[in-house]
Amino acid sequence: SVKSDGSRCVSLSGSGSTDSGGAQRADSLDMSNKHGDSRWPRQNSLSMKEWDIPYDELKLFEVIGRGRFGTVYRGSWHGAVAVKLLHVHSLHSDCVPLDTFKHEVATFRKTRHENLVLFMGACMKPPRLAIVTSLCKGMTLYTHIHLRKDKFTANKSVLVAQQISQGMGYLHARGIIHKDLKTKNIFLENGKVVITDFGLFSVTKMCFGNNARGDSLGIPAGWLCYLAPELVRALRPHASLHLPFSKATDVYAFGTVWYELLCGEYPFKGQPPEAIIWQVGKGVKQSLANMQASRDIKDILMVCWAYRASERAEFPRLLTTLQKLPRKRLARSPSHPVHLSRSADS
Ligand code: ADP
Ligand code: MG
Repeated sequence: SVKSDGSRCVSLSGSGSTDSGGAQRADSLDMSNKHGDSRWPRQNSLSMKEWDIPYDELKLFEVIGRGRFGTVYRGSWHGAVAVKLLHVHSLHSDCVPLDTFKHEVATFRKTRHENLVLFMGACMKPPRLAIVTSLCKGMTLYTHIHLRKDKFTANKSVLVAQQISQGMGYLHARGIIHKDLKTKNIFLENGKVVITDFGLFSVTKMCFGNNARGDSLGIPAGWLCYLAPELVRALRPHASLHLPFSKATDVYAFGTVWYELLCGEYPFKGQPPEAIIWQVGKGVKQSLANMQASRDIKDILMVCWAYRASERAEFPRLLTTLQKLPRKRLARSPSHPVHLSRSADS
């Protein structure tokens, strides 16, 4: 087995890595991808070198957390970073090959948006596979909502949801499906939303899938309620790599985040996975009868949670809807006296 700390990186310089003409050729290869199938990293492999971080350049400090993905460290590489170190011993032949990792890294490097975590590079030489991003300050929405039980006012929920829609709209416009949108992957830094882990689901699964033994579906707690009906219906043991993710399944997941913001809990709270799978698969939704919210706020949930993928809204439309929510629903602060503007109108 491979030790995940201490030992040195085995140098496996790939062909072309020391080629001084690489950068130029990379550009022309990148251009040609626009006309062909750009999904596969083979054509990208030269420009990918620009994002390769030698493992030895990284300093790893304490473990921030362990996900399905691997282990996340606070680290240093030209400043503070988060390093996601993959559990490389999971890279068996039956798992996702290195190409998939590189493909997902290729996806990551195409993203530049205020509400998306900054991708800095990756270690792409086995057995050292890691993704390096900026270190998010603040806490995740999950920590705020479920651990600290912080209450979000309608005003704040709308501002957070708007920023998520903005970041997600950008990803979708670039043809990137998040596949794992959840409150654990959304940070709040002084009111600013930062979304993480987009497009890394297969990488996640190549580690996680190995842990799921027997016939169990191996569903991590808190994952199920983000899955759209078409995903739930496609669940099979060991087959999560081939789930039919789409922009519409991201929108469904956003609906669940919106529900968590408003209600402070997961939909189908306290119900066993089997019950949730059965209900979602049949099109039964979490009841909103006891929810203290206006019609237009609940309508957003309904349009995200629509049973048919084709009936779900897209992020630009969700953003417009969120921006149009009546002002009277929003919290008023004394420093922003509404009556003054009103008297000026009349
Ligand atoms: P999950 O998203 O399911 O919690 P991850 O492996 O993505 O699992 O993350 C593990 C832990 O590391 C989480 O506590 C997460 O908040 C933290 N983390 C992940 N990425 C970053 C980052 N860029 N900055 C700070 N903390 C991070
Ligand atoms: Mg995460």
